[in-house]
Parts: sequence; C-alpha cells; structure tokens
Amino acid sequence: MARIGILALQGDVAEHAEVLHALGAEPVEVRTPAELAGVEGLILPGGESPAQSRLLQRAGLLEPIRRRALAGMPVLGTCAGLILLAREVTEGPVESLELLDVAVARNAYGRQRESFEADVWVEPLGPPPLRVAFIRAPIITRVGPGVEVLATFEGLPVLVRQGPWLAASFHPEITQEVRLHRFFLSLAEASGEGL
Ligand code: GLN
Repeated sequence: MARIGILALQGDVAEHAEVLHALGAEPVEVRTPAELAGVEGLILPGGESPAQSRLLQRAGLLEPIRRRALAGMPVLGTCAGLILLAREVTEGPVESLELLDVAVARNAYGRQRESFEADVWVEPLGPPPLRVAFIRAPIITRVGPGVEVLATFEGLPVLVRQGPWLAASFHPEITQEVRLHRFFLSLAEASGEGL
C-alpha cells in the first residue's frame, strides 16, 4: 500500500485523503519533516497559498520538501498547491517551493467566474473528460520547455507535468473523480524514490 503524504497545514486535506482511501493507498497527514520522511509521494492541497507558504516556513518544511522533490519524489499540487510548486507567482505574498517551471497568476479566473465546475479533457486519462471544480483558481501564464501540458481549458493550460510533479489549477478531489489521483499513484509506483 503506497503511503502518500498530504500536506496538512491548511486546506482541503480530508477530501484528498478520501480519494486515496478509495484507491487503496494510505493517506498520511504531513505537518513535520519527520512525517514527510515516511511518505512516498506528497499532495499539496488547495486552500490559501499565502497562509500555506507561511505555515510551511514555520514548520521547517520548505527545504525538506524541495530536497525530496528534487530527488524525484512525486508531488501532486492542486490549485493553491500548484501555486506553491510554481517557480514564479504573480499577485501575492507567496514564497513558493520554486520547483515547477511555470508562472502562475493567483485568483486570475475573474470575478463572475470565481468558482465553477467544468469538464476537462485529460489526454493520458482518456474519455470521459474529468469533472473538476475551479475555485478562485490560478491561471498558468507561462510554461517552461521541460513542462508538459496534459490538459487545457478554454485555451489555457490547466494540468501540467514536469517529471514526477503534477499540478492542476483545478480541484479533482471534490467531484467524485478518482482518475487523476490514480494516475498520480502510478507515477509514485514507477518512481523508486523514497521506497
Ligand atoms: N486563491 C487561492 C490562492 O491563491 C487558491 C484557491 C484554491 O486553492 N482553491 O491560494
């Protein structure tokens, strides 16, 4: 059973844990470097990225997560988690992990459409499209050459991958979808890091 960490400082931790349970993985709440050491992959949940980044620093987790991720640990970031992973963040006092070679603009999906559900076609998952929620979501404004775009929505990238790191501007965990997490678990299984 894969032990998958969920950063549990702030945000929608329980929803990710439920999906992992449903897929037969073991969710582990991560609040300390010692807890991080025991997991094979890490989910950075949605929430409020400025708060999360402050708490990450306070918990002494910023550098340990960076180190593990650079050593090949699979990471899935959703919404605020994408912001934490990004190298460049506009609109916000967010010190990110500066891993994923993308730029993101926080809260960029606009006022009238701050939150909405949508069907997103994800190439590696095949049909049907993934039903997901955008909640005051960031827009990915730049994608580096080593970053693969796995899904777009209205012409903009919304799901990207750089090696073992996967990040989405949407929430896949609150619409009864398990397929993106299953894909993430397959990345975690394929990577020998941390085992
Ligand atoms: N707007 C939030 C931020 O900038 C992200 C929202 C979310 O995670 N649903 O951190």
